[in-house]
Amino acid sequence: MSLIVVGSVAYDGVETPHGKIDRMLGGAATYIALSASYFTPVKIVAVVGDDFAQEDVDLLASRKIGLEGLERVPGGKTFFWAGVYSADMNDRTTLRTDLNVFADFNPKLPESYRSAPYLLLGNIQPALQRAVRAQMPQLKLAGGDTMNYWIKDYRDELLQTIRDWNFLLINDSEARMLSGENNLRRAAAKILDMGPGTLVIKRGEYGAIAFRRDGHFMAPGYLLEDVFDPTGAGDCFAGGFIGYLAGRGINPADGQIDFVELRKAVIYGSVMGSFCCEKFGVDRFRTLTRDEIEARYREFQTCTSF
Ligand code: AMP
Repeated sequence: MSLIVVGSVAYDGVETPHGKIDRMLGGAATYIALSASYFTPVKIVAVVGDDFAQEDVDLLASRKIGLEGLERVPGGKTFFWAGVYSADMNDRTTLRTDLNVFADFNPKLPESYRSAPYLLLGNIQPALQRAVRAQMPQLKLAGGDTMNYWIKDYRDELLQTIRDWNFLLINDSEARMLSGENNLRRAAAKILDMGPGTLVIKRGEYGAIAFRRDGHFMAPGYLLEDVFDPTGAGDCFAGGFIGYLAGRGINPADGQIDFVELRKAVIYGSVMGSFCCEKFGVDRFRTLTRDEIEARYREFQTCTSF
């Protein structure tokens, strides 16, 4: 079942204790789409400049990601982001954000995308997220991500936007900021009151927790021997999460995702986030297979069953 992914397609400069790459394919929509493409057909809505390389188009196309909604601005430059990680890779400092063509991003949904049943809204201005959601009347499941900037400076707009979502995926510091609560359980209860039936709080290497009014589910992070580059791990989590649900054709009548499927979706999210960290940028997706994904999913079951 088709999944529409909206967000940034970028070039990233990344430095980790394992090395430095000045410019490589990145962007939230890129990571989400690559990750979700292992589970369900994906179509992207994003903007790039005419510096966007054919080899990067080819990588997305090799995963059969629909590119009709990838707008190319003549004479424009693709969004560029650069960051450096701390020694333990739990902290990241942004060194540069050149919005370029992303500054005027106004997502245009091709006609053929409007009837799609699944929508993942990457981190963009909440009003734009809302406008996309409003153009898709046949959605079975919609949700997305946001960041501290929108929580702090666009709060009202953000609250109006997430009210209509089935799920919200954010990290723990964002959950604390959005709710004004330090305790995660209290924070989750407040956020669920804001609209989304499901809240997934991502906790980096420590895993993720899915909260609903009737309970919560805790998934650990996969213990990798080497983390090369955590960039995009949160987005790959999101891609695995919604990709799995879309692939299963989840259609909750009351907007509430079945709890058993929700648990599996969180584990697939953790699996995809872990693969992302094994190589720099999107490189792991050049060779990753569905069999490797299933093997790691089973390993999760073994490691967490008691
Ligand atoms: P993550 O590590 O999951 O937070 O995702 C990192 C990706 O998000 C990188 O590939 C960046 O290109 C992209 N990114 C960084 N800053 C922004 C921003 N302000 N808006 C949209 N995407 C961004």
